[in-house]
Amino acid sequence: MPDARIERPTDALVRITTTNICGSDLHMYDGRTDLQPGTVLGHENMGEVIEVGEGVDLVKVGDMVCLPFNVSCGACANCNQGLTAYCLVANPAPGMAGAAYGYADMGPYAGGQAELLRVPWADFNCLVLPPDARDMSRQKDYVMLSDIFPTGWHATELACVQPGDNVAVYGAGPVGLLAAYSAIIKGANKVMVVDRHPDRLRLAEQIGAIPIDDSKASPVDQILEQTGGMGADRGCEAVGHQAHDPSGQEKSALTLNNLVHSVRFGGTIGVVGVFFPKDPGSPDPLQKQGKAPFDYGMFWFKGQSMGTGQCNVKNYNRQLMNLIANHKAEPSFLVSHELKLDQAPEGYRNFDARNDGWTKVLLHPDG
Ligand code: NAD
Ligand code: ZN
Repeated sequence: MPDARIERPTDALVRITTTNICGSDLHMYDGRTDLQPGTVLGHENMGEVIEVGEGVDLVKVGDMVCLPFNVSCGACANCNQGLTAYCLVANPAPGMAGAAYGYADMGPYAGGQAELLRVPWADFNCLVLPPDARDMSRQKDYVMLSDIFPTGWHATELACVQPGDNVAVYGAGPVGLLAAYSAIIKGANKVMVVDRHPDRLRLAEQIGAIPIDDSKASPVDQILEQTGGMGADRGCEAVGHQAHDPSGQEKSALTLNNLVHSVRFGGTIGVVGVFFPKDPGSPDPLQKQGKAPFDYGMFWFKGQSMGTGQCNVKNYNRQLMNLIANHKAEPSFLVSHELKLDQAPEGYRNFDARNDGWTKVLLHPDG
């Protein structure tokens, strides 16, 4: 692919030092989206600024920066309200809002699983990192500010997690683990994490959450038992609409319905797992059309509320950066592999298969 370059005066050019493979990349890898061949993937990026356009004032050549996965203009009605995931300008497609690097239907921005990345509206989008971000051993924490740490945090914000709450998290992938980690930082009481992969459940236990193995017994029953029959106060969904039952069968809305049954009357649910308006690759005919058989009756009857959507990374990344800089948060606990860029196919294959021990893959274009 041709190298990225400055195209507009408000752009910066970043030499990528660390870029991650995300569960969101798997939607494209698995064919759940209409990805154009030749698209450079990669929306979890950090690196060094090597050039700035003449309209860039604040970001300087030599700065180490982490980029929110959202590309946003910083000036539209949504950006003004902090809804940078739904920027009204960055995605030029009719009827669309919100853009991201290297993502199908999310605007014309190449991703950072590459040597170089063009960052539009650089003053708004770059988070300038502290000096220790040059140290490769610190990058595995700072790079998580691009997406999954803020997204895990967002799940707990959408779910209104307060100190002392019991919290159920569905999915112990990187996002679910960081939702659990965020709930723990916020002072939650019991944090229960549902999955069926022993390596991922072990990580949940390692950070002080209660692992719930849904291949052993109903996760709803296990959560009710943990909460004296009442259900969790809050629930977070970090799986997405390709949820599988423990036997491996794809079942749309399975986790949403499990959450409705796992969360108490009056409780709140935050959904960050991705659901698409259509899913051409799904074997489930309903899901192909982006439809899901949601237990709305029980949801309404229990008076629950639900927040959904992409994370507005800029709402949280500065504060979470402070926690990392002061060693109060180390989201790198879930990193399993750091590979060279040309080993990305191996990383994708193993992460997609959820092979034992492949929880989060980082790529270093410099080797
Ligand atoms: P992942 O695929 O590694 O993790 C998903 C986990 O869910 C896996 O460990 C899988 O075993 C588990 N799972 C599958 N079915 C389940 C079920 N029925 N019950 C419980 N667990 C089940 O992906 P990830 O990187 O952790 O991302 C998770 C989701 O978050 C994806 O949909 C991703 O696209 C989405 N995401 C959203 C945002 C956002 O801004 N909202 C940002 C990043 C990622
Ligand atoms: Zn991501």
